[in-house]
Amino acid sequence: KKFSELNLQLNILEALHESNFTKCTNIQSKALPLLLEGKDVIAQSQTGSGKTLTFLTATYNYLQLQNQLQQTETLSPRALILAPTRELALQVQKDAQIFDKFTKFKTTLLVGGESIEKQKLNLTHSKDIIIGTCGRVTDFIKQGLLDLSLLEVVVLDEADRMLDLGFIKDIRFIFKQMPPPSARMTMLFSATFSHNIKEMAYQYMKSYEFINV
Ligand code: AMP
Repeated sequence: KKFSELNLQLNILEALHESNFTKCTNIQSKALPLLLEGKDVIAQSQTGSGKTLTFLTATYNYLQLQNQLQQTETLSPRALILAPTRELALQVQKDAQIFDKFTKFKTTLLVGGESIEKQKLNLTHSKDIIIGTCGRVTDFIKQGLLDLSLLEVVVLDEADRMLDLGFIKDIRFIFKQMPPPSARMTMLFSATFSHNIKEMAYQYMKSYEFINV
């Protein structure tokens, strides 16, 4: 499929084209049509499949669409993308830059190993989309610096690695702060599917589509 064949908002399509993304990868062809209908998706996918652009495109398009329906200013971020490591979160934010010029949504990075003060400041002027790691996001919530009560989109990237790294407690805590699954779009990406991942999907997602690429 081509991106132009999908039901994308015009500015999102322009952002993709400006970065010379015209043809969908396999995962994008399968997942985006579902995500653009607001469905929850679990994708079994490896690095290199184009998974990052899949969830970024779906996230920006969703926020853009919701924004046209309800133009309200909120104090809570609208989307949260959780990655297992600081390096991966940085990479996601870098990939998200293609949408900077074409949308008004700003990203903020909440990862360990960087100044909390600086991240606090960043959060005051750009908090549409949070890209972070479980530990730092949990810290921010516990300190009353982050409110997830109006979240519209949640992405778990490399969920199996998050569990391997022992973040299940943080994940449970973070999901408790959000609106229920029926009131948001949730995407889960993982290379492998253990019992624990299925359990998470059962608890944190509405009825979802499973994609294997
Ligand atoms: P990922 O699976 O997110 O690690 O992506 C792997 C690489 O594929 C990244 O460098 C992307 O820039 C690239 N990529 C993602 N989607 C496309 C696409 N539709 N066309 C060409 N390259 C892509």
